[in-house]
Amino acid sequence: MKVEAVIVAGGSGTRMGKPKQFLSLAGKTVVEWSLQAFLDLPEIEKVVVVLGPEDFRERKKKLSQPHVVFAEAGATRMGSVRNGFKQISEDADVVAIHDGARPLVTAEIIRAAVEEAYESGAAVPASRVKDTLKKVASKSLWISDTPTRSSFWAAQTPQCYRREVLEEALSRFPDAAAATDESQLVERCGHKVRVVPVGSENLKVTMPEDLIMAEAILEHRQGGRRRTAVGFGFDVHRLVEGRELWLAGKKLPGKKGLLGHSDGDAVLHAACDAVLGALGAGEIGLLFPPEDPKFKGIASREIVAEVLKKLVEAKASLANLDVTIVAEEPKMKPHYAAMRASLAEVFAVPLERVNVKAKSHEGLGEIGKGQAIACHAVAAVLL
Ligand code: MG
Repeated sequence: MKVEAVIVAGGSGTRMGKPKQFLSLAGKTVVEWSLQAFLDLPEIEKVVVVLGPEDFRERKKKLSQPHVVFAEAGATRMGSVRNGFKQISEDADVVAIHDGARPLVTAEIIRAAVEEAYESGAAVPASRVKDTLKKVASKSLWISDTPTRSSFWAAQTPQCYRREVLEEALSRFPDAAAATDESQLVERCGHKVRVVPVGSENLKVTMPEDLIMAEAILEHRQGGRRRTAVGFGFDVHRLVEGRELWLAGKKLPGKKGLLGHSDGDAVLHAACDAVLGALGAGEIGLLFPPEDPKFKGIASREIVAEVLKKLVEAKASLANLDVTIVAEEPKMKPHYAAMRASLAEVFAVPLERVNVKAKSHEGLGEIGKGQAIACHAVAAVLL
């Protein structure tokens, strides 16, 4: 079975400040979530994204990736579907038409609708209506009828069709400007359309409260609301002749280095203590007792590896790490970028989650006299 999809994201309604499909939701735009749900399914060979002409070029650039092609929106929803459909391969068996503003669609819903369409020709995922429906005169607001609720279902997307069924509906009703879904055109052609019963999570983002609910549902899917914990770390080592200087997992030039039973990397030690602090897991001295000979000369990266294991065990992730080195020499500024990159690499996080900075000690005390280097670190961890 060859399956392709059209995601309709050409609406220009600005009820919520900008078109709803481009509102941001948990770090992505609404349409990116919608698109991702389809791209996550290996059996979907092509996804056509239909975009409005006003932001076509810019949005296209952002959404471009393998298996995605683009079409320009029409004046109506059906016009957009028609334009998207032109990009569907001749030999596709099933075409899925999805609203760009339904970011919560799941693999299960897509697959169930596709399977049903392959079997019966046309399928619409829908949920039973929960509220009692009232027929109301739009101006006077008087209720004229209360239909039996049990026969009503709320249609969602992706609506899925055998290619020839959709093609017939689109070509027989070229001027169906008012149609709000393709299914009604397919029905008008005399084809039977089957409902695929689903829940109501696959909501359409239309009102501001929909975005709040969508966010909550996504959060729930990712294991519920996460707590942020903060930890602090500090370390100081003597600076002596004849040792290599290692800071943040990076070897810095110079004749002096930090004395310690390890490589003396005060930045990694402080950072590790900060992470352990956030986890409520003590400090590195408990994981690697300095008096234990088997840890003599241990590379600080191995200490970090152990700390990362603790993060994984706690199902936590490092949100960010900020360190302040206190040193008189060497000058740290030229090494900020290299140390930052190294810190990100050692802790296996993107660059933007770490920061490295330094202060001199204004000639005060041992650090000020260049006899030692200290480091403070703060880590935020998502639990
Ligand atoms: Mg240390």
